Amino acid sequence: MTEAERTSAGIALEDLTGIRQRVRLCRPQRVAIHSWAFARLAAFITYKAKRAGVPLVQVEPAYTSRECAECHHIDTRNRVDRARFVCRSCGVVAHADRNASRNLAVRGEAAWNAGRESRVPATP
Ligand SMILES: [Zn+2]
Repeated sequence: MTEAERTSAGIALEDLTGIRQRVRLCRPQRVAIHSWAFARLAAFITYKAKRAGVPLVQVEPAYTSRECAECHHIDTRNRVDRARFVCRSCGVVAHADRNASRNLAVRGEAAWNAGRESRVPATP
């Protein structure tokens, strides 16, 4: 959270469904925990983000691990194994978590911008 404040970065939180959930920062830092702990962590992060004025958005996690962050090609075979991501379309090779984090960051930013645009009243 301190890192997010310092870099004025936002935090994208994955949807709260599934057995295991992950919280990802825009940087390749990741915490993987079980769902019983995730709800508490999500509440804590939301509280801290609000207090610190750090933007927090929830994004749809679907396909983040299968989508290429470079060309946005989606294929289950892109995810070679737990660690490796190799795009079947453009051939980019990346760490699987790094690739997924980039997708999540892009979606978080899009959701944040969409929300801000819908809330900000039109200037006369
Ligand atoms: Zn690609």
